[in-house]
Amino acid sequence: MNPFLQTPIEYLKGVGPAKAELLKKDLEIFNFHDLIFNFPYRHIDRSRIYKVKEIDASLAYIQLKGTIGNMRTIGEGRASRLVAEFYDGSGVLELVWFQGVKWVKENLKANKTYLIFGKPSEFNGSFNMVHPSLDDLEDLQNKRYLHIMPLYNCSEKMKARGVDSKAIMKMVHAVISDPRFELAENIPTQILTKFNFLNRKDAFLQIHFPENLDKLGKAEHRLKFEELFFIQLRLLRYKMNRTQVVNGIRLEQIGDFFNTFYNSYLPFELTNAQKRVLKEIRADVKRGIQMNRLLQGDVGSGKTVVALMVMLMALDNNYQACMMAPTEILAQQHYQTLVSLLKDMPVKVALLTGSTKTKERRQIAIDLESGDLHILVGTHALIEDKVVFKNLGLAIVDEQHRFGVEQRARLWKKNTYPPHVLVMTATPIPRTLAMTLYGDLDTSIIDELPAGRKPIHTVHRFDASRLQVYGFIQQQITLGRQVYIVYPLIEESEKLTYKSLVDGFESIIKEFPAPKYAVSMVHGKLKPADKDFEMQRFVRGETQIMVATTVIEVGVNVPNASVMIIESAEKFGLSQLHQLRGRVGRGADQSYCILMSGHELSNDARLRLKTMTETTDGFKIAEVDLKLRGPGELEGTAQSGSLDLKIADISEDYVLIEQARNEAKLVLENDINLEKDVNKSLSLYFALYQKNAKWGRIS
Ligand code: ADP
Ligand code: MG
Repeated sequence: MNPFLQTPIEYLKGVGPAKAELLKKDLEIFNFHDLIFNFPYRHIDRSRIYKVKEIDASLAYIQLKGTIGNMRTIGEGRASRLVAEFYDGSGVLELVWFQGVKWVKENLKANKTYLIFGKPSEFNGSFNMVHPSLDDLEDLQNKRYLHIMPLYNCSEKMKARGVDSKAIMKMVHAVISDPRFELAENIPTQILTKFNFLNRKDAFLQIHFPENLDKLGKAEHRLKFEELFFIQLRLLRYKMNRTQVVNGIRLEQIGDFFNTFYNSYLPFELTNAQKRVLKEIRADVKRGIQMNRLLQGDVGSGKTVVALMVMLMALDNNYQACMMAPTEILAQQHYQTLVSLLKDMPVKVALLTGSTKTKERRQIAIDLESGDLHILVGTHALIEDKVVFKNLGLAIVDEQHRFGVEQRARLWKKNTYPPHVLVMTATPIPRTLAMTLYGDLDTSIIDELPAGRKPIHTVHRFDASRLQVYGFIQQQITLGRQVYIVYPLIEESEKLTYKSLVDGFESIIKEFPAPKYAVSMVHGKLKPADKDFEMQRFVRGETQIMVATTVIEVGVNVPNASVMIIESAEKFGLSQLHQLRGRVGRGADQSYCILMSGHELSNDARLRLKTMTETTDGFKIAEVDLKLRGPGELEGTAQSGSLDLKIADISEDYVLIEQARNEAKLVLENDINLEKDVNKSLSLYFALYQKNAKWGRIS
């Protein structure tokens, strides 16, 4: 890296230790390099200078040029403020300061020409501007940021200490206009030429201080491509390495386990989508290359039975299989589902979770090492190093987004050859996001629900209609159905969550009294055994209503439950609403989802609720979710940490994502180790990039 860029930020003129501390803490800016990687969040066009007489109520931020006079303090105590008059020959505008009065008084000069910038507001029929930004015209002459000015994020605390957007702008300018500032190109020439990209140094100059809007667009384009290109290069290199260099387990046989199950035990006809996916997987696992596949399928699409059948393929080839779930409840359900699907087939399945007793644990360890145990189901407990398989051939990871890439990788070490990995997720992932997050995986999609499923009827009701909703619940219970009532997790406070849940529980009990009705309650504070007890009561149909927090979100399967009431639905994200709704509609009955909310709704909340009532298509919902929240906030991706994008936007830049992926592929196909001369600069950069935990923070 250019040594100049490694200079600690406190050595920048005008920064010093106190401001440096703030920059480090609030923006993670430690050196000059970090500073120039701190891109502006937007620019304002200051090339236009307005006249006072042009001001009207419709204008947002504008810039004016003129002189300031008639400064005076008005009002007393807290209401006191400093006012002044601004003249530009076309009229007079009042300027107002409530804060920083001392500085203004001491620094403003009567005969100087200023550029002022701010938002005019109308007051008693005339216009004023509160806290205008002031620039001495002489100071600014010949500086690029006079024209199109970058705006930088800064915290309130930073502003209060004088490190505002403008201060950051000046710092960046100082670094970028220093003759020692250099940035080596990191994209091969042929790609630069092909897409007519700006070179790297120019892109950095223009992203901060664009000459014009066209150049700004070009700079953004190039930097977004760069960011996406290196992500793809990393993922694809990983994938090519896996498929070309590492040997995989060959699952060639289809034998007794699979055939017996398919012919005699499978309780239903597979959907076409399930069949297709099984074929894709089969083709993948028999070629002697490690499979790394993402299996996407909406809630209820029947992923579990597919998983089981793939495990049976492993068993047929004398390998063991394991299945990991993110929670204890889910692991238990999977275990029970597998056991009941396998009935009396000679397949030995065990469950290993955090609450497995030591004695059982020991037995599992023995059976696992001897090979007597065929399938191990469990939670994170499975990937601990002390869990040793005789011959693990396949690992199924359910709801992977809670596992993270790291943990997935630990599975590899469970055998001499890395076992095949099938990752299942019910959170549909839009294509562009999948390409970026799971670009090293192949994808299979179950895009069809088992026949006979009726779409879940979804409505939105305001709290005022609660009585009708209760009436509806009664009706459904009389018909023999069961009901979920879910309360949001209040993130800031476990206490509040618990209180709203208990309040809800009490009013439900009043509405639905014993002995006619029985109500269960499950929440995160319960001991696992108690939670399980309550869940089981509901599963067995002994209680008709399950009041719960989102602990029931993932995977829980009670086919007789046909009503899902979501309280304060406006507080849930779309993917979570979709997951919750997926808890019903699993049996033959018409199912319902009722989204309860107060009357005051933000626009986003309104769109979320509307989307839910309009579609049950998980992919459509995921697209809306991605647009609304951005990828960083999407369920699960936050933890995965691999999407710390600085400039590209997964929900918008899909064309660039495809281009970046194609180009990365071309580069690697010709030179997988990046040894050729044409890839020299790229390879230098890539080595640093790979080493760096925070992608992109290198040069
Ligand atoms: P998910 O994909 O959400 O994990 P599950 O595997 O839990 O879905 O399946 C949901 C329900 O659908 C289960 O009760 C399962 O037995 C049933 N099911 C799965 N495949 C089929 C099929 N082809 N025909 C009918 N029912 C099916
Ligand atoms: Mg499932």
